[in-house]
Amino acid sequence: MEVTIQQVNKRFGTKHVLSDIDVSIASGQCVALVGPSGSGKTTLLRLIAGLERVTSGMIQFGDRDVTVLSPNQRGVTMMFQRSLLFPHLNVEQNIRLGAKQLTPIELESWLHRVGLEGRGKSAVHELSGGEQQRASLARALASQPDFLLLDEPFSSLDVPRRRELRTLIRKLTEEQGVTTLLVTHDREEAMAMADVVYVLEHGRIVDHGTPITLSQTSPFFGEGIQIEETW
Ligand code: ADP
Repeated sequence: MEVTIQQVNKRFGTKHVLSDIDVSIASGQCVALVGPSGSGKTTLLRLIAGLERVTSGMIQFGDRDVTVLSPNQRGVTMMFQRSLLFPHLNVEQNIRLGAKQLTPIELESWLHRVGLEGRGKSAVHELSGGEQQRASLARALASQPDFLLLDEPFSSLDVPRRRELRTLIRKLTEEQGVTTLLVTHDREEAMAMADVVYVLEHGRIVDHGTPITLSQTSPFFGEGIQIEETW
């Protein structure tokens, strides 16, 4: 599903937090939205998810205008910084929340795909941070979303676990053809994950392009940023 954000503005009172935002994500593509703290990333994410209303502009999912729809009507699947697994349910029950019709074989297959085979009956607190994020990923993807929003999904993890999760997300979203938007303050992460990167500063998109192009042309992606081949 293609996602289009057109001329979106957001004001809180007199504060103009987002100005004339244009972002387009081709179907099946992973786009990263990167910018420093306070640049407006969370606000834009909340507008896309339907948790806030735009002041002006339009948001389209496929050929559906979702600008004034509620989060439920939009059908966006989100994955956050820390897993929002339900602590009183085991791993299997958490994954089933995303997809109630899963057969036992499909459930096993999801556990296997995220490297949690045999852990279906484990309690959430028995999993490490990285394992919890992988269970969250299985829950998100088992619901067969058209569009996945990732809000700093790696920031609670150490470097090896980040790389591992990055690779896994890319692999599984590509297999399923899920359109993905990653919101992050981490330039390296954006460059490693995305097909196209948008740079947000003071509420404006100041640059966008492929990781390769940006690494050659954007001052924001100056020296010291290496594009890692993680998949
Ligand atoms: P980021 O996620 O990039 O750190 P945010 O979207 O959280 O940025 O914030 C961007 C700006 O919008 C900040 O100046 C913040 O104070 C302001 N802001 C965010 N939410 C609100 C709100 N509900 N009311 C007023 N100002 C807000």
